Amino acid sequence: MKGFETDLVEGLWQEVDSRQDRLIELAKRLIGFPNVSPPGRNSTGAQAFVQDYLESIGCSIDRWETFPGDPNIIAVMPGTSPEQYKSLILNAHIDVAEVGDTSAWSFDPFKPFVRDGRLYGRGASDMKTALAAFMFAMKVIREKNVELKGNLILHSVTGEEAGEGITFQAAERGPSGDFAVAGDISDFKLQNGQGGVITGWITVQSPKTYHDGIRSKMIHAGGGLFAASAVEKMAKIIQGLGELERHWAVTKSYPGFAPGSNTINPAVIEGGRHAAFVADKCALWITVHFYPDENYETVAREIEEHILNVAKADPWLKENPPRFRWGGKSMLVDRGEIFPSLELEQNHPGLQMLEELHTRVVGEKPVVDMCPTVTDAGWLAKAGIPTVIYGPGELDLAHGVDESISVKDFVDYTKVILSFICRWCNTPRE
Ligand SMILES: [Zn+2]
Repeated sequence: MKGFETDLVEGLWQEVDSRQDRLIELAKRLIGFPNVSPPGRNSTGAQAFVQDYLESIGCSIDRWETFPGDPNIIAVMPGTSPEQYKSLILNAHIDVAEVGDTSAWSFDPFKPFVRDGRLYGRGASDMKTALAAFMFAMKVIREKNVELKGNLILHSVTGEEAGEGITFQAAERGPSGDFAVAGDISDFKLQNGQGGVITGWITVQSPKTYHDGIRSKMIHAGGGLFAASAVEKMAKIIQGLGELERHWAVTKSYPGFAPGSNTINPAVIEGGRHAAFVADKCALWITVHFYPDENYETVAREIEEHILNVAKADPWLKENPPRFRWGGKSMLVDRGEIFPSLELEQNHPGLQMLEELHTRVVGEKPVVDMCPTVTDAGWLAKAGIPTVIYGPGELDLAHGVDESISVKDFVDYTKVILSFICRWCNTPRE
């Protein structure tokens, strides 16, 4: 194993250096596909390119569509002794954030170029370079005839930007892994945890609809009508959510997160039908952030329990309790999403191996911390696969105007991933 380490791995790093132009060219090809989300449903060309590339190096391909126009790909490079050696999943999303008003950009976001050591274009940071690094590493492994004893699996999925949870489908239908690297933006740090997000709709509905002229009967002494405005009742629920949010901020915490990161945001409100009516329906869209050691099922239950108790203290809401709908298939389809949380133990051998290889390639130890946002890594964790978030992208630039990435980070990342695959997939299972 020692000989494998020093001779082969360093040879592979030289291979990346000597082929750097081709690596950058590959990233540029991927960035050239304008598969922005929203609207999504526009990844056929990009995924056909990925499929051709991976088929040409002998990978087997599983391809499916959950939403038409957004194919997903699982590519497998089978190991020679998969029962005895560790398998690895490399996870990437190919969709990119919307561009919006292109006049704010100083160049065409889909005509990538390199200037002063940076590669520019939509997806340069989030996360077509990481996908390019994965594909390129697999090509080098195949062309240099490196034996992998364990299975190597690549996910190229869509729907991450719209919270469609396609990575969970990939984890369920494809071969599992002993470890996974999610290449989403991590500022080139190793992130061994992320908080989760669940969105939900809370709806207050009156069983009857009243004319605006009836209002005095439902609010004044002697009116005698047991009725209410759904908009006014929602105000009580919003207050109740704020109380629970403060209670969470005081009582819950997690290392690596600023106190009070576990927020309940009343993000969107829709209510009433017309000024000539008393509002008979009001719906609130909330975004809930929770810590890595919590799961969305229990967090949703805590909110429901608290809000139903708030409702019980109100004579009308007690009889007409609010309804809840949690998560959803897609922000684009039913206005809902879930990103499960992620927690990976500090001394996981995969994390330690990546730390060591990163240190050797880059020349300094990587920062290990928590992911401040949410990624598909949570879905891999939900499927029971130990996962780290590790990508060369820079969070400040993701989703932004004039997105770019450091070419040096991109090349170094490719080297770390290439050597990690070779070591991890040739490590015996315990
Ligand atoms: Zn991303």
